[in-house]
Amino acid sequence: MTAPALATRLQTLQPSPIIQVANAARALKAAGKPVVSLSIGVPGFLPPAHVYAAAHQAVDADSGDYLPGRGSPALVQAFLASMAARGFAYTEAEVVAQVGGKGALFNLLLALINPGDEVIVPAPYWASYPEMVKLMGGVPICPTATAANNYKITPAQLQAAITPKTKAILWNNPSNPTGMLYTPAETAALAAVLAAAPQVWVISDDIYDHLIFDQGAKRAAHVLDSQPGLKDRAILVQSVSKTYGMPGWRVGMVAAPKLVVDALLALTSQSTTHLPAVPMAAAAAALAGPQDFLHAQTARLRAQRDETLAALAAMGLPCPMPEGAFYAFPQITPTFGKTTPGGTKITDDLNFCTALLHEALVAVVPGGAFGDAGAIRISYAGKGAELTEALQRLARFVGSLQG
Ligand code: PLP
Repeated sequence: MTAPALATRLQTLQPSPIIQVANAARALKAAGKPVVSLSIGVPGFLPPAHVYAAAHQAVDADSGDYLPGRGSPALVQAFLASMAARGFAYTEAEVVAQVGGKGALFNLLLALINPGDEVIVPAPYWASYPEMVKLMGGVPICPTATAANNYKITPAQLQAAITPKTKAILWNNPSNPTGMLYTPAETAALAAVLAAAPQVWVISDDIYDHLIFDQGAKRAAHVLDSQPGLKDRAILVQSVSKTYGMPGWRVGMVAAPKLVVDALLALTSQSTTHLPAVPMAAAAAALAGPQDFLHAQTARLRAQRDETLAALAAMGLPCPMPEGAFYAFPQITPTFGKTTPGGTKITDDLNFCTALLHEALVAVVPGGAFGDAGAIRISYAGKGAELTEALQRLARFVGSLQG
């Protein structure tokens, strides 16, 4: 007997390739192979002790009741204060908690996108952006930022991508997958283009904005810095996953005009109801607590970035210098046409990554998942010794290619 059909909208949905690679690496590990994974974006550290204390307290103080869809009062207040510290004044009516940054983006697109609407997603992009847009019936429009331009789009490219059908732009700074960081001047130039396009929602996925290395600033530049008037259509997405080492706690936050927040509240009221109490208490403690541990983490990430870039340069794989987040996005085109010791002829990112996983036991994500099939994405935030080992294996693999 054949099963009844799935919904049409699922027919073209690509499951997250990042999660697929991570699962393949896990399966090999479970089979006893010493795989090192540089695939999924785990920040590689645990949150400070006061976060766990708040979680334990929340268990002890369980009310046995449902909680507000917007988020617990402590979480909402902690988020408002952290936004205020960044220079962005929001009120309670303009913020809402969601199931991670990913859940926030999913619900935002559900709330904003009609079939046929265009959404500008600069490439290389985070793999989920275009898939989410397509799931809503929208059309991703992807101006491409090349490695030669340090993976940054220009204001002219942004301008050219805007049409009467453009409903939103969805982007992040710094970037997953490239680690690219727009400077304040570059951000201002892009913001000026958006200021002249009043029909466009500006969705900024700011979840890596604390994790920046070189600009002498504590947080990444934002379009609202130079164009505060964009606040009426700017939607800011935050998460505790990367900044506080809490990806498993699944707490994301949105700051946006009340119209958008009310739409998210309505969606939440008919779907997940609210976030669980314990993660909310932990996230509130993370946001409200001392932030000084971040210096140590960004210093560690910067050192691992430097180690990764030096190794890639020695391998002859060109890679623009990442200035934030914890990813490197080297071009692997110099290996195309060569053959591995196991007999695979490298022709694209997919068979490069498959051969690397099976022959060298290193997991990285094919760049095609992010819109550039000539690259791979390396997540370098894991344990230092594992990173060193994985880079050595990658170097041996690249060095062993013949032809
Ligand atoms: N946005 C970007 C650019 C990401 O890289 C990720 C996770 O890797 C997310 C959103 C989702 O993060 P979370 O749902 O854990 O908050």
